[in-house]
Amino acid sequence: MTASWLDLPPDHPFGLATLPYGVFSTTDPDLRRVGVRIGDFVLDAGVAAEFVGMESGICWAQPSLNHFLSLRRPAWTAARAWLTEVLSNPAHRDGIEPHLIPLSEVTLHLPIEVADYVDFYASENHATNIGKIFRPDGEALTPNWKHLPIGYHGRSGTVVVSGTDIIRPMGQRKAPSDAAPRFGPSIKLDIEAELGFIVGGGTELGSRVDIDDAADHLFGVALFNDWSARDIQAWETVPLGPFLGKSFGSSLGPWVVPMEALTAARVALPLQDPEPLPYLRGSGTAGSGTAGSGTSLFGLDVHLEVRINGTLVSSPTYAGMYWSPVQMLAHLTVNGASLRDGDLFASGTISGPEKHTRGSLMELTWNGQEPLTLDDGSTRAFLQDGDTVSVTGWAPGPDGAQIGLGEVVGTISPALT
Ligand code: CA
Repeated sequence: MTASWLDLPPDHPFGLATLPYGVFSTTDPDLRRVGVRIGDFVLDAGVAAEFVGMESGICWAQPSLNHFLSLRRPAWTAARAWLTEVLSNPAHRDGIEPHLIPLSEVTLHLPIEVADYVDFYASENHATNIGKIFRPDGEALTPNWKHLPIGYHGRSGTVVVSGTDIIRPMGQRKAPSDAAPRFGPSIKLDIEAELGFIVGGGTELGSRVDIDDAADHLFGVALFNDWSARDIQAWETVPLGPFLGKSFGSSLGPWVVPMEALTAARVALPLQDPEPLPYLRGSGTAGSGTAGSGTSLFGLDVHLEVRINGTLVSSPTYAGMYWSPVQMLAHLTVNGASLRDGDLFASGTISGPEKHTRGSLMELTWNGQEPLTLDDGSTRAFLQDGDTVSVTGWAPGPDGAQIGLGEVVGTISPALT
């Protein structure tokens, strides 16, 4: 594999095989522009591109990735090839090196101006666990679950960048034993460890994205924490779905890892039985029942770690997720809904079959009945004020390289009562 003239260790999670995009500023917070992480530096991409005479570099002199996202797959591919060339060919070192800024000297911002935001529910283990907890007397999975990727439209304006404090939400709750609803700070504040998929290449209202074209609109992946107030959620959700129990804040990681960096991490999906309707089948998979064996459907071998105040509480793996991101994207446009540059859709909580791979406290503590013990000896059923939750992630890259997804972190601050 090509090596960078930065001389990074081969297993560095932000080596040449990763090259994620973010938005940063240095001394002036209003001077936000696109940066590319390499090692523990951020390449001031627009300035570097201008210096080297790469015309399309102007798309990086922007306060979000949205303009770059609008340029579509060929431009994304060309940009990555250019970055790889200038960061590996020593002939470019003198021109590029002055535009590398130590990570410690930058402030990272939300990488995209979030257009529309959808949250899916693509883990069978998560959906089953939640079904058992919320509907103990019914079927764990709803009848539609294996026929379509279930999702809801969330609140794009409250997606915040990693590091932003999360204010404990106020709201209504009503436990089964309560005679009437109460109002106050949520007492069941939770996390949901997810992947966020960043979409580019807008589409016309009334058109739909064919599943075999869906990957062309998938720009990249960032870590995502869908903070959830379980008590508010339980009382408000039936019959129209998640609302204020979710919309008070969702944290997005600062680094968007291009899908091209995750080629080696593609894995087959679990067996999809019953076979989904044709619009959710990729080419080469019809009839086989084994999605992911064809060219268009895939899962991702991404490994996450969830920590509360430094204690590792869960290690979810994305590889077992039931629905492919391309199925999610095809489904969300099948009714003619248009895509916009900067759309974000999240996978839903990533939970595996084992207890230590569950991606929410709701599941890890079984709705608070089995509290966790942290390294300081304290216990948690749900989050307390002052708690810091970190989700980190990585994936295998080509030739043994590691693809870092970075970290999404947030600290709970008290409710504004
Ligand atoms: Ca979620």
